[in-house]
Amino acid sequence: MPELPEMETYRRLLQQRLAGQANTGVSIQREKTINMPAAAFEDQLIGNTFTAIERRGKHVLFRLQSGSVLLLHLMLGGFLYWGTEEDKLERTAQVTISVGSHLLYFHGLRLGYLHLLSREEAEHRLAALGPEPLDPLLTAESFARLMQKKRGVLKAALVDQHVLAGIGNCYADELCHHAGLLPLRRIPSLRPEEGTKLFHSMQAVLRDAVERGGYMETPLFRGDRLTGGYNDHCRVYDRGGEPCPRCGHAITRDEWSSRKVFYCTGCQQ
Ligand SMILES: [Zn+2]
Repeated sequence: MPELPEMETYRRLLQQRLAGQANTGVSIQREKTINMPAAAFEDQLIGNTFTAIERRGKHVLFRLQSGSVLLLHLMLGGFLYWGTEEDKLERTAQVTISVGSHLLYFHGLRLGYLHLLSREEAEHRLAALGPEPLDPLLTAESFARLMQKKRGVLKAALVDQHVLAGIGNCYADELCHHAGLLPLRRIPSLRPEEGTKLFHSMQAVLRDAVERGGYMETPLFRGDRLTGGYNDHCRVYDRGGEPCPRCGHAITRDEWSSRKVFYCTGCQQ
């Protein structure tokens, strides 16, 4: 499932392409993906201009001149494609939005959704999310306080969107590896200096992943060299049995609460 760096990459690239552009058409292939009848959705969107593309946690928010917001969550299997009618992918899109000669295709939205909401509804939907891991106001001290509210294992707290918004399975394992801490380590057992290390590792890993374009496999548009640039940089996630890039020990693939967990027992404690 796309996490903060993947959605931030989409946000950056779409902001350059959509902001200030008017919506010229909408095509709905799957009505369950949206939150109202297709005709009402089209009525509100067509002619409406995108003012800004924002991100909160794993959501992308398309702000519209009318004040409404298109709230996107890709969940598992969702991805976006920006192109023309000629270079579209050989896949069905659940929703397509036209902006002049270009189209934004929303693919794989079976579990994911694209909801058209008022500003207040959008705020309400996002109100329970924890802080952004890269928020400049988040300090090592406030991070420690957030984690201490949880008594379970690190992985559980890191992927809990009410604790922090935007981290999922992959980056939780990656930042634990970076910090030299086992993802199944119990939070109460962490020493203060380990908590501080985890905070700095979280920011370092997420910043690096954003910089490299995250791990989405499909480019956003033809010639896109940013999206997916982090794919080969995951050090433990989905690398069970491979040697740890830091110490050479074989990476363990484990399961916790029906989630995959990857770590190295050679250099994580
Ligand atoms: Zn190792």
